[in-house]
Amino acid sequence: MNYFTYKDIHAEGNKKILEINILPEKICNFDCIFCPIRRNIKTNKQQKFEGLDNSLEVFGKKIQDANPDIIFINSKGEALLNKDITKIIHFIKTKNCKVKLLSNGYLLGKQDYKEIANLCDEVIGEIKTINEDDFQKIQRPYKDYTLNEYINSMAFFKSQYRGDFILEITILKGYNDNNDSIQKLKKIIQKISPDKIEIKKEEDKRLKKRLAITDERLSEIKKEILIQHSNIAWK
Ligand code: SF4
Repeated sequence: MNYFTYKDIHAEGNKKILEINILPEKICNFDCIFCPIRRNIKTNKQQKFEGLDNSLEVFGKKIQDANPDIIFINSKGEALLNKDITKIIHFIKTKNCKVKLLSNGYLLGKQDYKEIANLCDEVIGEIKTINEDDFQKIQRPYKDYTLNEYINSMAFFKSQYRGDFILEITILKGYNDNNDSIQKLKKIIQKISPDKIEIKKEEDKRLKKRLAITDERLSEIKKEILIQHSNIAWK
């Protein structure tokens, strides 16, 4: 059985990117109300899936045909919860490709997960809420998780990471788009101190009406954050 899935190869600048999902079903330590993948298994424990050898065989052929520069692990959930992620990253390295990993960021401060993410050349962590109530209400994390620990986890990871740490911030209407929220976001950015920031609005068709801010407001927020963080690169 082959359980990896792929998106069409695309380019970023002069780099060819192959995007891969390494989870056969959605597994995540959050259950966000705006998640594009509906069915959810909420856990904070790694899961083992049948079919790794076959999946790697197909993956190897894909890499040979497409000859990408970067493999982007962008999964249906939290990729770090695949028990075989270390093997998968080492496999990619044997093909002389760089590895970019998307994680929601919560596990990055924990010793075992930190070591896994340290193997990657680029890591993306995310921020979507800026107060505890909203974090619990709309990101519905695993029990006992807190926003404070989430932010500290990414800050700790970044403090020792040698690759590029990208902080992806999603502005959600009514949750983190007013002026007070932007001031809080600036403090969070300062604490995490990422190498790059990406600021986005909600793009999912089903949720745009409820959660998307206007393009004008998005540019105002970007400008406001840039005043304080002009030293950080923008995606
Ligand atoms: S962190 Fe991402 S994958 Fe996990 S539930 Fe939230 S939106 Fe979905």
